[in-house]
Amino acid sequence: MNSKKDYRFGTKVIHSAQSPEDWQGATLPPIYQTTSHVHSTAENLSDTFAGKTDDHIYMRLTNPTNRVLEEKLTSLEGGMGAIVMSSGMAAISNTCMALLRAGDEFVSGNSLFMSTYLLFAKVFSKYGITANFVESTDMEAIEKAINKKTRFIYLETIGNPKMDIPDLTRAKEIARKYDIPLLVDNTIASPYLCRPFEWGADVVIHSTTKYLSGHGATTGGVVIDSGQFKWSEKRFPDFKPFIERKGPLALIDKIWREHHINFGTTQAPIHSYLTMIGLDTLAVRMERHMLNTIAVARYLANQPEVKWVNYPGLEDHPYHNTARKQFGDKGFGAMMAFGLADQKSCKQFINHLHLISHLANLGDCKTLVIHPYSTQYVAFDEPTRKSLSITPDMIRLSVGIEDVADICEDLDQALQNE
Ligand SMILES: *Cc1c(COP(=O)(O)O)cnc(C)c1O
Repeated sequence: MNSKKDYRFGTKVIHSAQSPEDWQGATLPPIYQTTSHVHSTAENLSDTFAGKTDDHIYMRLTNPTNRVLEEKLTSLEGGMGAIVMSSGMAAISNTCMALLRAGDEFVSGNSLFMSTYLLFAKVFSKYGITANFVESTDMEAIEKAINKKTRFIYLETIGNPKMDIPDLTRAKEIARKYDIPLLVDNTIASPYLCRPFEWGADVVIHSTTKYLSGHGATTGGVVIDSGQFKWSEKRFPDFKPFIERKGPLALIDKIWREHHINFGTTQAPIHSYLTMIGLDTLAVRMERHMLNTIAVARYLANQPEVKWVNYPGLEDHPYHNTARKQFGDKGFGAMMAFGLADQKSCKQFINHLHLISHLANLGDCKTLVIHPYSTQYVAFDEPTRKSLSITPDMIRLSVGIEDVADICEDLDQALQNE
């Protein structure tokens, strides 16, 4: 790729970070399935350990296949550096832990991926870290929850299954006012739909397991740093050695050096390779995902058995305008929730589906369905389920890229049988 030319997203997603000249002409990056790398001189290995070269040492630390994916995702989000990890949760936990010390606090939207919520609410609390949860879209509540111990604000671009969309510009203004970074989990939107750095986010996290790979074949995660945040001595005194070492990439260095390599959250290179194969088609998949989803949402909204439909693409959705602002005219994502009469109807509906896969995942080419209340959230107490908008009558749908008429026909026959 001509590295000087600023290609458009659909081109970049395929051509960025490609260097066939380094891969014996191969058009796909090799899978470097090797634990260690040989160093020709004693000086080279000691320089590499000292961080003076970008050479590779050992797979837990870095891997050439993983690095191609890191460069590709950095380019797609418009950031400065990235680390790919074994899962989205690895990226979330390592990033947060690099930012937090015992006694610290952070402010988080409450509309979170389930494991993220559990990590913040139940695991971090064991180490004296407090997550102050607020409504993800309530900017006044976010500002009110900030105090001297707050180290960052954490939001998801599109909450799931609540389908709420925080105003990132407002969140950025608050983060700037208090000199703290804004972290955004952009998994549900994908960089096709939204690039949070353009709205002032400082750190972007993805589960690459979902839309970025798109096939349901791998798990993976990534943290990408904009390199723009200024770590103040006052609030972030522990960043000093990392700033001295890596300048604008201090956070990436801290995540990598303190957490990623010591907790061993390495991405297997074949997972990076499979993710890259999927990534090539991200733009066309997202286009088709979203054309299908708006059609499915309109279809469901017209069925008497369906009590409500929650999809930001519908004009009367409370976050339709925020979505339009942040996503432009590209669409509204491919996740939606809808309500049937009660929990029993939901289960009967799911049992009658033929084409649509009943499983716990999202962002796959295939259309996926789940009843969150009785599955992912089954062990949650009722007040927490309520605060997360997990109701017994709710079905969550991750709309795939099949022929939309077949998706609607499957929904239709299951609704008739429900
Ligand atoms: C799936 C998901 C995660 C966790 O990713 P894993 O790859 O399953 O660890 C985090 N955030 C969001 C929004 C997700 O959908």
